[in-house]
Amino acid sequence: MASDTTATTDQRARVEESIDALLTAFPPARTPEPEFWGAQFDHGLAWVQHPEGLGGLDVSPRWQAEVDRRIVEAGGSTRNRTQNVLGIGMGAGTIVAHGTEEQQQRFLRPMFTLEEIWCQMFSEPGAGSDLAALATSAKLDGDHWIVNGQKVWTTLGHLAKWGMLVTRTDPDVPKHAGLTYFIVDMESDGVDVRPLYQITGEAEFNEVYFTDVAIPDDLRVGDVGQGWTVAMTTLMNERVAIGGNVQPRGAGAIAQAVEAWERTDAPDRDPAKRDQLLRYWVEAEAMRLTTLRAKEAAKQGTPGPEGSTAKLQWADLNKAITSFTMDLLGPEGMTYPGGYAFTRPDVTSNRTPSPHKAFLRSRANSIEGGTSEVMKNILGERVLGLPGEPRVDKNLPWREVPRS
Ligand SMILES: Cc1cc2nc3c(=O)[nH]c(=O)nc-3n(C[C@H](O)[C@H](O)[C@H](O)COP(=O)(O)OP(=O)(O)OC[C@H]3O[C@@H](n4cnc5c(N)ncnc54)[C@H](O)[C@@H]3O)c2cc1C
Repeated sequence: MASDTTATTDQRARVEESIDALLTAFPPARTPEPEFWGAQFDHGLAWVQHPEGLGGLDVSPRWQAEVDRRIVEAGGSTRNRTQNVLGIGMGAGTIVAHGTEEQQQRFLRPMFTLEEIWCQMFSEPGAGSDLAALATSAKLDGDHWIVNGQKVWTTLGHLAKWGMLVTRTDPDVPKHAGLTYFIVDMESDGVDVRPLYQITGEAEFNEVYFTDVAIPDDLRVGDVGQGWTVAMTTLMNERVAIGGNVQPRGAGAIAQAVEAWERTDAPDRDPAKRDQLLRYWVEAEAMRLTTLRAKEAAKQGTPGPEGSTAKLQWADLNKAITSFTMDLLGPEGMTYPGGYAFTRPDVTSNRTPSPHKAFLRSRANSIEGGTSEVMKNILGERVLGLPGEPRVDKNLPWREVPRS
């Protein structure tokens, strides 16, 4: 216990010293954003849990919230985290854990400074929850891999310079064993990004077609055949990025519900709805505190299955609260201010100021980043130790698994 406390005190001192140095040398209110974010990376304050020299300080991720709080307080912005959510939230941890030194030096800093946006290309029309079933192929040709296939639901693919791509490199071994992970230049010949319209009227995601796209072997992440392990690192980080975001007390969806309640005329204030509002407020706060506690407990490295708990709970609660807000808005809830004009947003609209859009967008929460059913499977098997689902194709060569 004593050594834990000493380690905590040491970590706090290092983080605070680094924040003070950053804010003194680069006052955020007077420093252009990319320059500030670059300096933040160089001071080890981009993602504190990662090693020194790679944008971190090798300390617990719990300190990141303090770093971000101090930056915002000093007039700076952390909008790079939301605008490059796939890169910063998921790609960075993957490259730190599995990338070569060259890849780490090349990709991490411009990812953090928002100079290079990233997207994730895992899902396919025939592979979502069962990601290991994917069919996009990569075949070695000299020192390049030639990729053919289709990905779908590629968030921010229309803005991305780089994509995290999982491919099938060996169809003759069981499905999990024949995968390889690459970084792909989205500006390569043969990459075709097409918008997919969403219920909100906008297209924040895409389908992506690959026709004979050449990827140099030095953009492979991990060994040939190790794609499943690398992809798991990305997905564990994704669940934390989606469900583990700690907002201030009373912020987010519950703030929109409270606002809708306050706008309700006094005679129309149904006491049953007030009770429900309070219940949601308490649940939102309990979830916020649980997430904070999980962050406190986190040490370093890749998040474990506990990220699935936050993701599952957040999805259900966010959907329930945004629906409730629509109820409170009454007839106004049936309108859609701004209309359904087709737009190509530069950020995912999970945290939108419009309660109408928040309601529609929240329908995706129990699907994106792994469905709620799949989160329950993970928690049952990996946290509670319950027996696994029957997996009849586990040992069959992928080529022999029936597909529709
Ligand atoms: C807003 C949004 C953004 C996304 N962004 C990306 C992205 O950037 N990159 C990317 O690669 N993907 C992305 N996705 C895709 C997402 O990861 C998949 O939609 C998700 O994994 C589910 O896969 P699926 O859509 O193929 O559904 P399916 O896997 O076909 O599932 C259909 C239904 O069956 C249920 N089901 C499936 N298997 C089981 C099981 N074993 N046990 C119990 N129930 C099961 C599911 O829960 C679901 O209800 C995004 C999705 C959304 C909605």
